[in-house]
Amino acid sequence: MPDVSARFSAVATVNSRQPRQVQRPVSADGSVQGVGQLFGQKTFSLDVMEEKLPRAVYKRVKATIEEGRTLSHEVAVSVAHAAKEWAASQGCTHFTHWFQPMTGNTAEKHDAFLTFAKNGRAIERFTADMLIQSEPDASSFPSGGMRSTFEARGYTAWDPSSPMFVMDGESGSTLCIPSVFISYTGHALDQKTPLLRSMAAIDKAAQKLLTVLGETPERVIATVGCEQEYFLIDRAYWALRPDLAIAGRTVVGANPPKGQSLDDHYFGAIPPRVLSFMQEVEQELYLLGVPAKTRHNEVAPCQFELAPIFREANVGVDHNQLISEVLRRVALRHDYKVVMHEKPFADINGSGKHDNWSLSCGGKNLLEPGEQPQENTRFLAVLASFLLGVQRYGGLLRASVASHGNDFRLGANEAPPAIMSVFLGETLTRICDDISGGTVERTPDQAQLTVGVETLPAVAQDNTDRNRTSPVAFTGNKFEFRAVGSSQNPGWPTTVLNTIVSEGMDQICTWIEEEGGGQAAVMTAIRKALDESAPIRFEGDGYSEDWVAKAEARGLKNLRTTPQALGELRDSVVERVFAKHGVLSPAELQSRFNVQEEQYLTAVDIERDTLRLIVNEMVMPAALAERGELAIGAKALAELSLDFSMEKERIEALNQAVMRLKERGDAVGALAEEAGHDAHKVADMVVPALAEVRAVVDELEGLVSDGRWPMPKYRELLFMI
Ligand code: ADP
Ligand code: MG
Repeated sequence: MPDVSARFSAVATVNSRQPRQVQRPVSADGSVQGVGQLFGQKTFSLDVMEEKLPRAVYKRVKATIEEGRTLSHEVAVSVAHAAKEWAASQGCTHFTHWFQPMTGNTAEKHDAFLTFAKNGRAIERFTADMLIQSEPDASSFPSGGMRSTFEARGYTAWDPSSPMFVMDGESGSTLCIPSVFISYTGHALDQKTPLLRSMAAIDKAAQKLLTVLGETPERVIATVGCEQEYFLIDRAYWALRPDLAIAGRTVVGANPPKGQSLDDHYFGAIPPRVLSFMQEVEQELYLLGVPAKTRHNEVAPCQFELAPIFREANVGVDHNQLISEVLRRVALRHDYKVVMHEKPFADINGSGKHDNWSLSCGGKNLLEPGEQPQENTRFLAVLASFLLGVQRYGGLLRASVASHGNDFRLGANEAPPAIMSVFLGETLTRICDDISGGTVERTPDQAQLTVGVETLPAVAQDNTDRNRTSPVAFTGNKFEFRAVGSSQNPGWPTTVLNTIVSEGMDQICTWIEEEGGGQAAVMTAIRKALDESAPIRFEGDGYSEDWVAKAEARGLKNLRTTPQALGELRDSVVERVFAKHGVLSPAELQSRFNVQEEQYLTAVDIERDTLRLIVNEMVMPAALAERGELAIGAKALAELSLDFSMEKERIEALNQAVMRLKERGDAVGALAEEAGHDAHKVADMVVPALAEVRAVVDELEGLVSDGRWPMPKYRELLFMI
């Protein structure tokens, strides 16, 4: 029988907590440093390089980064030396190639700068080779079968377009080198390699499109800013919830009487203890050069959000990973645990990550509607490419966010549904409908795009309806992909966006060329793209049953579970599009499928084991003890010839629930055995069976007396922080 007093002492502990006083860095003169001083102190940025490197070397590094090329060995020699000197001055003794394996987390293996000189003296050294590449033991990272197909070992290589940074531990610091992780044969083993390739692909496709439109484009860069949602749970509670600790989410827990029904948390005043946490997080992020911008309460109690200012896609993704890491690390200092799971609490809003995406060319946002007809044509062509990409590869987009955690969220009437559609807002929809329906008259001499010239500038202001029910929304000058899971690395969905929009652009270019070029041809191509993508444009309520039926009639896929969604990765059309744009080879794609499926199966397995543990070790003993005590009481009352109907009633209710719990628990075991490693069967049989077990546990939570319930309840986890 677990010691239930632990739960009550946790409540007492939590209620006595005070906000932590955060130390603000001070300058030599004793004044507190402002954001301008803090920002980027711990990054080996271009500014630092300009200061530390010989002029000629610096220029070459800058060009390398700006043109997205790889660094020459010669330049790396100087950079490595300067980086080591700088890192040592920041207290670093070690360095690590910081990379993003397919697990979705970041990985690092630290190496000391320490080496021995010829005379045996200990010295610190960091060479170009050490900077450019390193060889972690790849065998324990998932490769989705790549290792058996190809060379076993993998190595990490610096991505110079993302700056090195210093990560402080409690008693020492490490120089982190943002890296890609590839096999010796050059196959991607991580999230970043395909992302960088997809950025090159969209640069190429967008430049081609702009050229066809008569422009002389510069390099086109995909930009990303991820809004990160998360829950904060007090450590004292967390420690008493094996499900949060092991599975990352609660697998049991009855609804509290209040829930989030009052909607009073969203944008509400931030509790002082949380605010202090957020301030320390921001301070750390500024030091790391991550431009944290907004902070606020989210919809659910205990749920919050942090959003940075967007950057080039690879840097934006790195920043998101750093944000997650810093949130986790700083939370402990404030006696919180950050819960980043997509659905930590049943019937309470889950957490997502809005992947804001756009394209930038020479500092201009290509999704910014302009005042000039030429700018409008460009805007519409890019928009149409995006829509066409989502129309043709909506299933792939869905697959890019598929995980067990996200299955609880997508389509659960709080997050975007599993059906991929795009919300454009009223103004833009009208413009698209006009072009597509051909209601706008166009004569050859008037071939210049007149449509919407007057209305397009209004698009940016058309933010009145921020339709939260749409998985993809146009928000003024960018698209927002909202189906991304909170714990997910946004690299993969961004890679997919870049790739499918590249494909949309290619198609539009082909159509323009087929029509012989010129403004009329451009209009025809845009119209064709808008016509074809009409089915995915949807302004209505994505949560409604109505939409499910309508979407089906429009031929849109509704991939409710991860295994269904992952099937898209095995489609030969998808395989061809990745190969065509040089983003993933068929073998690399297959490996992603394998990893995502394996992760799904593992996640369900972990939940099943955790639930069993909770039932056997906590819930069942509590329920049986309650029943036993009531039975003894009833017997005593009977002996005294007193009324024991209340006891009897409760005993019967407990009895029934306990029997049902046993039955359903046994059923899970049998179903899991039958499903084996078949992900579809696991999704269709095991996952619903786990929910059935949970339902009985939650019922028992209401039957067993409060003093006997071993785990902190939702009302404590969520409302007493
Ligand atoms: P909202 O979601 O209300 O539109 P913001 O305008 O603050 O909120 O933007 C949310 C996120 O979108 C931020 O991280 C922001 O940096 C990012 N963002 C804004 N413009 C772009 C862009 N052109 N490309 C990529 N991300 C962008
Ligand atoms: Mg947003």
